[in-house]
Amino acid sequence: MPDTTLRSETDVVLIGAGIMSATLGVMLKELNPNIKIEIYERLDHAAAESSDAWNNAGTGHSAFCELNYTPELPDGTIETKKAVKIAESFEVSRQFWSYLVQKGLVSKPEDFIRSIPHVSFVWGDENAEYLQKRFEALSKEHLFAQMQFSTDFAQQSQWMPLVMEGRDKSEKTAATFMPIGTDVNFGELTRSMFNHLMEQDGVTMFFNHEVRQLKQTESGKWKITIKDLANGAKRKVRTPFVFIGAGGGSLRLLEKADIPEGNGYGGFPVSGQWLKCTNKEVIEKHFAKVYGLASVGAPPMSVPHIDSRMIDGQKALLFGPYAGFSTKFLKNGSYLDLPASIQLNNVIPMLSAGFHNLPLTKYLIDQVRQSPEDRLETLRDYVPNAKSEDWELETAGQRVQVIKKGKDGGGVLEFGTEVVTKEDGSLAVLLGASPGASTSASIMLELIKKCFKESNSAEWQAKLKEMIPSYGQTLNDKPDLSDRIRKETAEILKLANS
Ligand SMILES: Cc1cc2nc3c(=O)[nH]c(=O)nc-3n(C[C@H](O)[C@H](O)[C@H](O)COP(=O)(O)OP(=O)(O)OC[C@H]3O[C@@H](n4cnc5c(N)ncnc54)[C@H](O)[C@@H]3O)c2cc1C
Repeated sequence: MPDTTLRSETDVVLIGAGIMSATLGVMLKELNPNIKIEIYERLDHAAAESSDAWNNAGTGHSAFCELNYTPELPDGTIETKKAVKIAESFEVSRQFWSYLVQKGLVSKPEDFIRSIPHVSFVWGDENAEYLQKRFEALSKEHLFAQMQFSTDFAQQSQWMPLVMEGRDKSEKTAATFMPIGTDVNFGELTRSMFNHLMEQDGVTMFFNHEVRQLKQTESGKWKITIKDLANGAKRKVRTPFVFIGAGGGSLRLLEKADIPEGNGYGGFPVSGQWLKCTNKEVIEKHFAKVYGLASVGAPPMSVPHIDSRMIDGQKALLFGPYAGFSTKFLKNGSYLDLPASIQLNNVIPMLSAGFHNLPLTKYLIDQVRQSPEDRLETLRDYVPNAKSEDWELETAGQRVQVIKKGKDGGGVLEFGTEVVTKEDGSLAVLLGASPGASTSASIMLELIKKCFKESNSAEWQAKLKEMIPSYGQTLNDKPDLSDRIRKETAEILKLANS
């Protein structure tokens, strides 16, 4: 039979059409306009998995309201290091998105980003005390200087009327308020970046194309085998650099690439659901992202929050996420994803991570068993007057938490994102979920530094500074620089600056 396989040769292959591939693709094309890029996506449009608006919470994670980024240490002090790092990363994303807007590479800023206050809300004496300590610790950090704190019922009612309405006034509650938070439609932003990329010479995008195999040849180039899901045709492409930005599908592709750096990695899928408000009057009453404390055993990304959203020009309101368990690694994936990912080199880390995370397992089992009444009860902790007829259940995106080999050979469950790169810089893969899309620009800058030796050239350095004026510098310790950057990006992205 004649070989009908289609063959091509390109400089870069991006696997998956989510926000990570979009960000890397646009950055590389700006750095080197002559670069040839092929993008392969198994679904029929971009941003159809985690990056789509309803599949994530759309929070521009800046650590303003997410309490899991500021743990209380055994000595009672509050750790702010991680919060500062996330806040700085978000400022990098704001700079990159401002560059895209100024250059006319993406749609209008109001199509993908809006200002919205970020609020943390707790109840009970102990939690209120923690929140006050967190506020005092963060107030010393320049990027958080605008944060306000209150235990006053009237003040909290002004910040979040829906959350305080119907609440017992004798109950101790506390909140912090950050006026400069954001809601981001990552799906719109991603599609906008791909629309721009597809218009560029040297960029080809293939939808309904699933990457099946990756193999490094003796020349150092990668040979990638792809199946056209529309007609079953096979395609092979050779490239010196491949980025696996396949979201939940990344782990299986890393295993197929079979690089030593990938040994011992496993994945733990956590699915999610939201309650979506259908009552316009209720939606209009809320204008904030209000994050609470996670319950015992809950993974950090399952912190409950009641969130105003702006999706396709419509104001929306969601509460959640309710976690769940499914063996799928992608929302549009297969129930065999988890069993198929278990290999000789990760079976021990995966079993050990399961054994050491029994509270998480118990939490997920409890979540899966929740009835509609149980869900409503949880919602009423945040919206005391909630009525079941005003809310419907919506399935969120699928997350695959990273399991890593620990020093003792056992497994450690991680809740962040992790970039694994081959030592020769020819392959990079992004695993994990949080803080995710908000920090996509910083993640990709780091990846470019590791994998592209041209990144040290004067030309690339100058372009990187044009895209990200603060490139290579920290911001929290430079008040003048961070104030200037925030003001400029607020103007371009049409965001509140105070
Ligand atoms: C419930 C939930 C809430 C979240 N909330 C937030 C939030 O508030 N703020 C925030 O910043 N982040 C949030 N995140 C995280 C954020 O959504 C992700 O970090 C981000 O979208 C990941 O982008 P990605 O490009 O890596 O993956 P994805 O957007 O999932 O894209 C991967 C793409 O790869 C494709 N693919 C998979 N396998 C293959 C293959 N073999 N061949 C070809 N294509 C393939 C998939 O179809 C998909 O289109 C949340 C995530 C979830 C699930």
